[in-house]
Amino acid sequence: MKALEKFSLKDKVAFVTGGARGIGKAVATGFAQAGANIVIADLDEAEAIKTAKELETNEGIKTLVCKTDVTSVESVNALIKAIDEKFGRLDVAFCNAGICLNVAAKDMTFEQWYKVINVNLNGVFLTAQAAGKYMIEKGIKGSIINTASMSAHIVNVPQPQCAYNASKAGVIQLTKSLAIEWAEYGVRVNCISPGYIGTELVKSSKTLIPLIDKWNAMAPMHRLGDPEELQTVTLYLASEASSFTTGSDVIVDGAFTCF
Ligand code: NDP
Repeated sequence: MKALEKFSLKDKVAFVTGGARGIGKAVATGFAQAGANIVIADLDEAEAIKTAKELETNEGIKTLVCKTDVTSVESVNALIKAIDEKFGRLDVAFCNAGICLNVAAKDMTFEQWYKVINVNLNGVFLTAQAAGKYMIEKGIKGSIINTASMSAHIVNVPQPQCAYNASKAGVIQLTKSLAIEWAEYGVRVNCISPGYIGTELVKSSKTLIPLIDKWNAMAPMHRLGDPEELQTVTLYLASEASSFTTGSDVIVDGAFTCF
């Protein structure tokens, strides 16, 4: 097979949590452009339906929308059941849904701490576990990609976000653990660590908007990343192109964490 052909996802099935918008939507679009049928799994069902329609119209692939809460075992099990019923296979899982709360550690309630850890770490575990189990049972040599963050590597300033940083560091170690457990089944598990990306998570937060200029001043490339700039690295990880890559964390941050 020629090198470029290894990036094809033709006739594969991929689910994307948090796929209705932001990074999830951009990555789902990249997968669709490589030929995959796409399952959008998101809390925001209305936005998920809009995104799925766009993908069907623009990329000519099949889609499925599942209103999914990644923190609920029942909801994640229902997602896998729906995928099995519609497609009978799952090749790629992008466990990406995440939230951020900017609260100082001394003021943080346990509920706030738990909410972030629950979506960002427990949610990634539940969705990756369900995907891995399904792939192993079906004998599918699939690829699981989790979304960590540069916040797993550095403490971002000036905004306080200890729960977010801790949750994302957990995602990297979880990724490596699953990669080792599932290597014998041919299921690969990797994660990405994006720098600041211009999505609603950043652009619709009253706390974060005033900080964008400060971050850009600190950033070697002096700008936010664009969600589309994560399409090709995830396509690499999702496809045969990365057949010997597992347990890796790929930092895509315009060198933000280099100093
Ligand atoms: P967005 O907030 O733009 O999109 C996240 C999507 O996830 C939303 O549609 C949201 O739905 C959904 N979601 C939230 N909670 C759940 C849940 N419990 N179950 C299912 N879906 C849920 O975020 P981004 O696209 O910016 O971020 C995606 C991932 O990338 C996150 O893990 C984030 O931490 C990470 N990341 C983001 C960076 C950035 O700068 N933007 C940098 C590094 C990492 P709803 O709107 O209903 O809440």
